[in-house]
Amino acid sequence: AAARVVVIGGGFGGASCARALKQIDPKLQVTLVEPNKTFTACPFSNNVIAGLRSIEQQQFGYDKIAAGGATVVAQAATGVDGAARTVTLADGTSLGYDRLVLSPGVDLRYDALQGYDEAAASKMPHAWKAGEQTLLLRKQLEAMEDGGLVVISAPANPFRCPPGPYERACLIAHYLKTKKPRSKLIILDAKDTFSKQRLFQNAWKEFYPGMVEWVSLSQGGKVNAVDPATNTLITDFGNHTAQVANVIPPQRAGRIATSAGATDNTGWCAIDPVTFESKSAPNIHVIGDACLAGAMPKSAFSANAQAKVCAAAIATLLSGGTPASPKLINTCYSLAAPGYGISVAGVYQPKNGVLADVEGAGGVSPADVPREFRAREADYAQSWFTTITAEVFG
Ligand code: FAD
Repeated sequence: AAARVVVIGGGFGGASCARALKQIDPKLQVTLVEPNKTFTACPFSNNVIAGLRSIEQQQFGYDKIAAGGATVVAQAATGVDGAARTVTLADGTSLGYDRLVLSPGVDLRYDALQGYDEAAASKMPHAWKAGEQTLLLRKQLEAMEDGGLVVISAPANPFRCPPGPYERACLIAHYLKTKKPRSKLIILDAKDTFSKQRLFQNAWKEFYPGMVEWVSLSQGGKVNAVDPATNTLITDFGNHTAQVANVIPPQRAGRIATSAGATDNTGWCAIDPVTFESKSAPNIHVIGDACLAGAMPKSAFSANAQAKVCAAAIATLLSGGTPASPKLINTCYSLAAPGYGISVAGVYQPKNGVLADVEGAGGVSPADVPREFRAREADYAQSWFTTITAEVFG
C-alpha cells in the first residue's frame, strides 16, 4: 500500500510540506489536518494594524492543496499516539500514519506573565496570531485619542518573527504620525539587542523622532505582570499605563507537539537538522516555529524552506534511502515606513547536530544607502509575500 504521511497544521510550514510531498511522490497518501477553512497570514499583518492593508489580503484557502492530491481534513488534531502511529481528531476519529509532520506554530504562554490570560488578551491584544486579534489592535488604535500612549511589550528569545515587534512599532508610529501626531509609543523589551537593531533605530530617528522609545532589558523593559483592568504593564522598574497595550507574551510550540512527546523542557521541539525528525519522538518530524532550528529564525520563509527539506527527507526515508545534508535559506523583510524596506538574510546547514549559519553567506541591509535602495527592498518584500503565498496556497 502507499505510504501514509499526516501533516498537522495548515500554515506556512504544514501546507508547504503537504504540497511538496505530493509533488515529490504523487503516490504518497498525504493528509493535511487543519481546523480553519481560511488561513490568515501573519507576514504583512502589521500593515493591517497600521491601516495600510485589508485583512482579506492576508487570507488564503486550501482548495488548491486539495486539488494537488492531498486530503484536507478540517479538524483539529487532539492527540498523537507515537507507538500506535495514530492521530486523534476533534470529532473522535483517528488517522494512521507511517510518518507524521507537525507544524502547529506557536502557543502563547498564558502562564508566563502574572495577570495575563486569554481574557486579558482580549483587552491587551497580542496580535501574534493573525485574524481577530489583528483587527482588535487596529480598532483600539483607531479609537485612541490623539496624545495617547501605545505600549508594545516584546518577549525574550526565542519567539515567532524576531523583527516583528520592531516593524510593528514603525508601522504603528507611521499611523500615529499621520493621524494622531501628539501620541507616543514605548517598546518594553525583555532583551538588550534585537534583529536589524541599528536599521530600526535609525528609522525611528529619521521618521518618528521623539515618538518611539525603546526600553531594553537593562533599562527595565522586561514586563513581569499586567493588569488588564487598568491597561497597565508592570516591570521591576515601574508601571506603564497605556491607552493601547499590545502584549506579545512568551511562546512555546503548539500544544499538539507536547501531546506527541516532541517538546523538551524549553517548550520547543529539538530536531535532527537533516530530516527534521524529532529527537524524542521517532517517525515524527517538526518544522516551522515549533522546532528548534538552531540559527534559523522563526519565520514563514524558514517554515517553507524547512517544509521542502523535510518533505524530501521523508520521501527518501520511506523509500529506504538516506537523506542528503541540506542547505536552507531565510530572508526576513521589514517595513520601517511605507516604501522603506530593510532585510536580514542567512544560509544554514547542519553542523554538530544543529542548523548553523554558513559563515559569510548572510547579512543585513547596509546602513548608508540611497532611498531608492530602501524602496527596492520594500518592493522585494511585497514580491516575496505574493510569491510565497502563491507557492503555498495558490
Ligand atoms: P503557522 O503558520 O502559524 O501555522 C500553524 C497552523 O497550525 C495554523 O493554521 C493552526 O491553525 C494549525 N494548528 C495548530 N494546532 C493544530 C492542531 N492541534 N491541529 C490542527 N491544526 C493545528 N515571517 C516571515 O517570513 N516574514 C515576515 O514578514 C513575517 N512577518 C510576521 C509578522 C508578524 C506580526 C508575525 C506575528 C509573524 C510574522 N512572520 C513572518 C512569522 C510567520 O508568521 C511564522 O513564522 C509562520 O507562520 C510559521 O509557520 P508555521 O507553519 O510554523 O505556523
